Amino acid sequence: MNVAARMARLGTESAFEVLARAKALERQGRSIVHLEIGEPDFDTPAHIKEAAKQALDAGWTHYGPSAGLPELREAIAKHIAETRGVPVSPEEVVVTPGAKPIMFFTIMALVGSGDEVIYPNPGFPIYESVINFVGGVPKPIPLREDTGFGFDLALFEKSVSPRTRLIIINSPENPTGGVLDRGQLERIAAVAAARRIPVLADEIYRQFLYEGEFISFLGLPGMRELTVLLDGFSKSYAMTGWRLGYGVMPTSLAEHVTRLMVNSASCTASFIQMAGIAALQGDQTPVARMVAEFKRRRDLFVDGLNRLPGVRCARPRGAFYVFPNITGTGRPSSEVAERLLNEAGVAALSGTAFGQHGEGYLRFSYANSEENLRAALERMRPVFERLAR
Ligand code: PLP
Repeated sequence: MNVAARMARLGTESAFEVLARAKALERQGRSIVHLEIGEPDFDTPAHIKEAAKQALDAGWTHYGPSAGLPELREAIAKHIAETRGVPVSPEEVVVTPGAKPIMFFTIMALVGSGDEVIYPNPGFPIYESVINFVGGVPKPIPLREDTGFGFDLALFEKSVSPRTRLIIINSPENPTGGVLDRGQLERIAAVAAARRIPVLADEIYRQFLYEGEFISFLGLPGMRELTVLLDGFSKSYAMTGWRLGYGVMPTSLAEHVTRLMVNSASCTASFIQMAGIAALQGDQTPVARMVAEFKRRRDLFVDGLNRLPGVRCARPRGAFYVFPNITGTGRPSSEVAERLLNEAGVAALSGTAFGQHGEGYLRFSYANSEENLRAALERMRPVFERLAR
């Protein structure tokens, strides 16, 4: 079939492509350590699964309101007030199947043809993909290793123009694990507030912060009415396959995002939303346990990577990714990632899967067992030794 021209502008998330290739190698009998996909290896906590089972039995199996069940929107509003210190109303919450649709819907609703969008690079690839899809003009801001993968603020300020319609930030960040500090966030907020530019603050990794305190964009001066906060259940509660996320935004935008839900998914699965209430209101110790375990794995993996020839890895403060510099190998990132998969059976992503400023880096997810992380380090050593020769 001939597809519409706009499809040529839609990108992808190569984690899913590498996963498919790694699975194909496994079907041929190869052993693969999966460090490509960003999902906790932990199981969803039992009380959340139980709530979903009960909801199914109680008949939460029908269509619900497009913006989400009032019970869940209320629970999310309360959760945001508690965790961000900013009171919000349930009318400002839109529930979606996973948090990803909030990116798609926000960009669809705010960005027209020729409008500019500022976003991090390397960054989550869907930002750039959707900006291009809607005919927007991508204005990537490089994240630099020497500043802990923070925004290049001088370049950021230069990139803002009268055509800037949206700024996207993600902290803690995928793929670098970088965290924007208060000074950086406040400067971004000051520019956005002065020019009345909306900010999509992707806070999906809020809980995965290993040092320092989390600062939400929503609470920064002037940002209450300009922020679209994105969060969800996938990462914090190990619920990637459930598909449950949300956005918190001014009601004037929530109306349009809800209409995009009406035109696409209709609503998020009702029994899954009921499980979401249990996640927010139930025992939070499984989250803390998982985060503590990830911190241990981060240290183990960063130390191991730094012992490999040609590799230099900063210790990220958040998320569950490391973004080692491999320029010491003298080879392009995509080639190194390819060789790690084929020669070592370790699935990782080329830094360029996250934009042009990812060249010279690889991304590994360390949301995997200690045993697998140690095995990956051992398997990769001969490849890096060969590359160093
Ligand atoms: N935002 C970032 C930065 C992510 O890395 C991801 C998932 O990988 C998401 C949002 C989307 O999460 P969800 O699974 O809830 O759609």
